[in-house]
Amino acid sequence: MSELAADLGHKVLEERHPLTRDEALALADPGLDAYDLMYWAHKIRKKYKGAEVHACSIVSVKTGACSEDCSFCAQSSKYKTNSPVHDFLDKERIKAAAAAAKKHGSYALGLVAAGYGPTDEDVDTYVEYMKAMDEVGGVEKHINVGIMNERQVERLKDAGMVCCGHNLETSRRHFPKICSTHTYDQRVETLKALRRQNVKICSGGLFGMGETWEDRVDLALDLRELGAANIPMNFLNRIEGTPLENTTPMAPLEILRTVALYRYILFDRDLGVYGGREVNLRDLQSMIFFAGASAVMVGNYLTTAGRPAEVDRQMVRDLDLKFAPPRQLEPLA
Ligand code: SF4
Repeated sequence: MSELAADLGHKVLEERHPLTRDEALALADPGLDAYDLMYWAHKIRKKYKGAEVHACSIVSVKTGACSEDCSFCAQSSKYKTNSPVHDFLDKERIKAAAAAAKKHGSYALGLVAAGYGPTDEDVDTYVEYMKAMDEVGGVEKHINVGIMNERQVERLKDAGMVCCGHNLETSRRHFPKICSTHTYDQRVETLKALRRQNVKICSGGLFGMGETWEDRVDLALDLRELGAANIPMNFLNRIEGTPLENTTPMAPLEILRTVALYRYILFDRDLGVYGGREVNLRDLQSMIFFAGASAVMVGNYLTTAGRPAEVDRQMVRDLDLKFAPPRQLEPLA
């Protein structure tokens, strides 16, 4: 058993110890046994998150034709991909998505739109969408629509947005290598506006884009500092036509090691394995919980299909875990 994994595991478990950058980098050493790391990450998850798994669903309300050039994304207009393109869905489709999310056992439905960020007219549309979700009821209203100013955040919050999703994607250092049309700091500013408005923050990253372990650690530390309550961990699903289509995929154990490392650093946050789960982890999917995950996305992803929700529900039951009911989480202070 690795002494380092055990020492830091004890400190997180017993003292709520916030890992320093040096400690996190030491745990990220690929020479450290991945199963030792997971053993402690599992204990940390059990202590701080119990047996509940947060399952959420998303619906892409406006898809494709994006002005931005994120090099992993099927929806960028800069690349030729097979991604669907459509303008805003009608409200009936939003109601149907909310009903499906509820049926799948999701506690929340996230409305996701492609693009740099909303116009004020787009915000009007999201307000109407949330009213449509209220007609269905039973799922939290989450919004993920890009870079926003504080007034837009405030309007959505007043209309019932419980949580706002906005991924930082990777470290500040690596970000310019994956996107040239906007900056890491523009994304950070949106998170700061959310925090000032006391909106729960859902923000994480996409892994397997050529980043180093140092990049992964620095992203986790930024997310901790910025008050992200829910951390989606996505793993690159290589899309034909994008600049990253030929990137070497992360091995399943490297993915699990990354999840475990994040559980040490973000010990009391919800840590979800979202995009790229099936394609990258294959038979090792259920091990995400042993590695420290406490959340999953069920149903389909933005532009790719997920496996049937019932298969995920069965996986969670078989592990003696259970899906959490909808609840109103307080944002981190
Ligand atoms: S990640 Fe978002 S902003 Fe970037 S290209 Fe895709 S839809 Fe546009």
